[in-house]
Amino acid sequence: TVICCWISMAEADYFKYKDPKKPIGVRIKDLMKRMTLEEKIGQMTQIDKKVASNEVINKYFIGSVLSGGGSVPAKQASPKTWVDMVNDYQKGSLSTRLGIPLIYGIDAVHGHNNVYKATIFPHNVGLGVTRDPVLVKKIGAATAREVRATGIQYAFAPCIAVCRDPRWGRCYESYSEDPKIVKLMTEIIPGLQGEIPAGSRKGVPFVGGPDKVAACAKHYLGDGGTHLGTNEGNTIVDAKEFFSIHMPAYYDAVIKGVATIMTSYSSWNGVKMHANRYLVTDFLKNRLKFKGFVISDWQGIDRITTPEHTNYTYSIIAGMNAGIDMFMVPYNYTEFIDGLTYLVKNRFIPMSRVDDAVKRILRVKFSMGLFEKPLADYSMAKYLGSQEHRDLAREAVRKTLVLLKNGKSLKKPLLPLPKKASKILVAGSHADNIGYQCGGWTIEWQGLSGDITDGTTILSAVKKTVDPKTQVVYNENPSDSFVKSNKFDYAIVVVGEHPYAETFGDSKNLTIPEPGPSTINNVCGSVKCVVVVISGRPVVIQPYLKTIDALVAAWLPGSEGQGVTDVLFGDYGFTGKLARTWFKSVDQLPMNVGDAHYDPLYPFGFGLTTKPRKN
Ligand code: BGC
Repeated sequence: TVICCWISMAEADYFKYKDPKKPIGVRIKDLMKRMTLEEKIGQMTQIDKKVASNEVINKYFIGSVLSGGGSVPAKQASPKTWVDMVNDYQKGSLSTRLGIPLIYGIDAVHGHNNVYKATIFPHNVGLGVTRDPVLVKKIGAATAREVRATGIQYAFAPCIAVCRDPRWGRCYESYSEDPKIVKLMTEIIPGLQGEIPAGSRKGVPFVGGPDKVAACAKHYLGDGGTHLGTNEGNTIVDAKEFFSIHMPAYYDAVIKGVATIMTSYSSWNGVKMHANRYLVTDFLKNRLKFKGFVISDWQGIDRITTPEHTNYTYSIIAGMNAGIDMFMVPYNYTEFIDGLTYLVKNRFIPMSRVDDAVKRILRVKFSMGLFEKPLADYSMAKYLGSQEHRDLAREAVRKTLVLLKNGKSLKKPLLPLPKKASKILVAGSHADNIGYQCGGWTIEWQGLSGDITDGTTILSAVKKTVDPKTQVVYNENPSDSFVKSNKFDYAIVVVGEHPYAETFGDSKNLTIPEPGPSTINNVCGSVKCVVVVISGRPVVIQPYLKTIDALVAAWLPGSEGQGVTDVLFGDYGFTGKLARTWFKSVDQLPMNVGDAHYDPLYPFGFGLTTKPRKN
């Protein structure tokens, strides 16, 4: 008997799931076998850092924590502070019975944008212009390194929405109105996660290494196609249009091994995507063979029912039945855990559905080596805002610019501007404002104004670029007489939209807010001017066009303003082509390339070029 019991003790001590030499499938099976219902439901629960603590995570076996858009992290926090915070949460997980590590997620949607001093890359609306998959792949890799520098392993990116109406407040998170361009840009996924090894089984998530993060293609499906561009609205189109426009990028994302996919708040023909079993389970999981996990959006299941008809139990059933695996229930997690536990125990929801969810979550965690190295160290800190990454962002900015007009007649182009001049004017609300340059989802969810993080404003970039003898006069909103009483060789006017995110950005009129238009009028009426528009989408520009000599769409370039001056002053040429249609007036919207009544101010694909100046 003694011998017998020693052997069985040894057997009991051997946890296959802890053995990195075992195939992932075996590890998952072994671990699942050991898990209680409570532990499984914990894995499916993602809570916000505001309510997270080592104790809460330990008590509820929480599988994931996030820094949500609304939960603003401390501005001055160093990478070390972040690493310590994430590790502290992780210790809550590791000290549970089975020690399953948690995965920490954040919206790193244009670089590691929540973090002070990180490199802020151009938003997707600009990157679509480049049509350059190699570039976005590099951006993905740089973003992954910066995210890992703070101990975080999961980015809620990329947004592969196909924005069909610029009135949508998230249009800048979309690469293009054209599904082909959005599909091309899914190359950011192997940048973030690593290149999927040849011969991998289709749909199996792949995250390759300590400097890579799990990505999240979002928001599945049709988020960019809603009626009137309403955020979280209803996409009212037939199946043919729905699939041919909004689905293609997801095929590629799955083939490239995307680890997770987030469901959209929006509806398709009145059915909430968070409750759409056909699209999530039958199509994505069964037909496309997606093997990573599906995550809900922030309180996404709460919104399955309306405020007038709240029924959280129903929401859980609908979300589970649809096929959601991880639930972003940032604050009301106990309600979710209790509700789901009750529903499973009383057989409203089959255990097989819970097991499907947990398997998928564990597969991602195993595949990225989280069990082997759950705790982060400080060795990656050097990557945050590194010169190498800033140089890459600067290169990206150069390629995102679209030259829409160059001179009153093409025979007399204004650009590139001469670096040598006696006196030039830089004007406009956006000329010296890093926050405006970066837009929403920067440091704070809605974005901010002013000196919010490290970077180069367009004004300081101009000063660095022009000949030392050239006098640069800066006046944010000069009067007409100020401009006239000075003898400027030319002026650079930088105006645009103020930062916004999600529903706060929905706009019916798409105008440039004052004093932008008056700055254009005051300056451009009296001196040769180039207007640089900083915006998340095409805006109303036609009324001012007459007085403008040269017009540049710079989108939301991010922290590296020198990318703009590199091209304005001819060190590089303009190459960008519109990845969106530029409308004449908002009553034309929605209007996309291929539409019967296509009558744009600047068509999709438009963009003048300049040659770099030889010197
Ligand atoms: C957004 C998502 C985001 C999530 C977490 C939601 O409001 O729709 O895109 O990933 O918040 O911050």
